[in-house]
Amino acid sequence: MNIHEYQAKQLFRHNEIPVPKGQLASSPLEAEFVYRRLKSPVAVVKAQIHAGGRGKAGGVKLVRSPEECFQAAKGMLGTTLVTHQTGPEGKKVHQVYIEAGSEIAKEYYLALLLDRETANIAVMFSTSGGMDIEEVADKTPEKIITVQIDPTLGLKDHLLRSLAFRAQLPEVETQQLMVWVEKLYRMFLKYDFSMLEINPLIVTKKNEMFALDGKMAFDDNALYRHPDIESMRDLKEEDEREIEASKLGLSYIGLDGNIGCMVNGAGLAMATMDIIQYAGGHPANFLDVGGGATEEMVRHAFRIILQDTKVKAIFVNIFGGIMKCDIIANGIVGASKDLKLHVPLVVRLEGTNVNEGKKILRESGLNILTADDMGDGARKVVEAAKK
Ligand code: ADP
Ligand code: MG
Repeated sequence: MNIHEYQAKQLFRHNEIPVPKGQLASSPLEAEFVYRRLKSPVAVVKAQIHAGGRGKAGGVKLVRSPEECFQAAKGMLGTTLVTHQTGPEGKKVHQVYIEAGSEIAKEYYLALLLDRETANIAVMFSTSGGMDIEEVADKTPEKIITVQIDPTLGLKDHLLRSLAFRAQLPEVETQQLMVWVEKLYRMFLKYDFSMLEINPLIVTKKNEMFALDGKMAFDDNALYRHPDIESMRDLKEEDEREIEASKLGLSYIGLDGNIGCMVNGAGLAMATMDIIQYAGGHPANFLDVGGGATEEMVRHAFRIILQDTKVKAIFVNIFGGIMKCDIIANGIVGASKDLKLHVPLVVRLEGTNVNEGKKILRESGLNILTADDMGDGARKVVEAAKK
């Protein structure tokens, strides 16, 4: 789960990480009031969406008067912001955050993230932070310094010293950074983050550090421990189909391709996406209907897949273990008729009652292509999607 910048800043404040003064607004008038209350000649109006790259896309504006603040908020609220992180469809701006403008002397990058390869928490730091960090990572990756914290040993000072040394930080900043990382590391454990990023972390002319941006991602499996964090969830920022699917007990994740997938079991679903790629196609989604899915759930699954207008063909790959193949076949036939399926359907069934299942599909009178195995199914569906 991700949260907005203004929420990340609330958490920073609670945990004594300095952030500029600021407040949320949902209308231009409210934004103007916030500006007046801030009593800062320069303020910044920032679109609140779950994506970075706002600065370069017009989602961060400096304002110097109540009127300018009103106009900047008006220009953002209700519009769709397209940044390099949102994808071409962009994200709608429902709220703006108005904060006091900071006098920036330096922009740094700091992130803590769960490194699944090493099972450590990685701390990444760069003195070349700011809006071009992607370019830095791409062209001069040596400017991003990483140290690994082994969670069984905890955070050791020498790690941070070596990080600051490699970044050639002056001593005053080294001291500050060490305190910051200690606090952030504690937050990381306390809230079960999977990622925490501050870009930019600024140093002002008076040598003070502030978090000017904040990105936080939480481990969904640990959310039950943090009702306060879970209440920060903004469903407007999430894929409607994913929310609907999760309510029905299906795990669905939308992707960029055009081949809809319906599979039982997460492992088989991953393998199915791989084999589609291998056959030269691109999956439109990950969808696991679960081990004990019912006919009803199969129908829901079809409906969700078909809501994606990119889908040009569907591949059903089911291993009937707990779930019997004839039940699945009935679900497929029923759903295809109800939903007036208009795209080619390739079905690979295996397992309990497979022959009964295949018979139901054959006798349905529907245009269903059956496959002998996964490879065959993948080739057929990739072919069908091209037509
Ligand atoms: P994004 O990462 O989505 O582009 P940021 O919050 O990082 O959005 O803002 C982009 C840039 O805008 C920052 O790198 C910084 O230069 C400037 N900026 C953001 N907040 C402030 C602020 N409070 N005062 C001054 N400049 C700011
Ligand atoms: Mg940023």
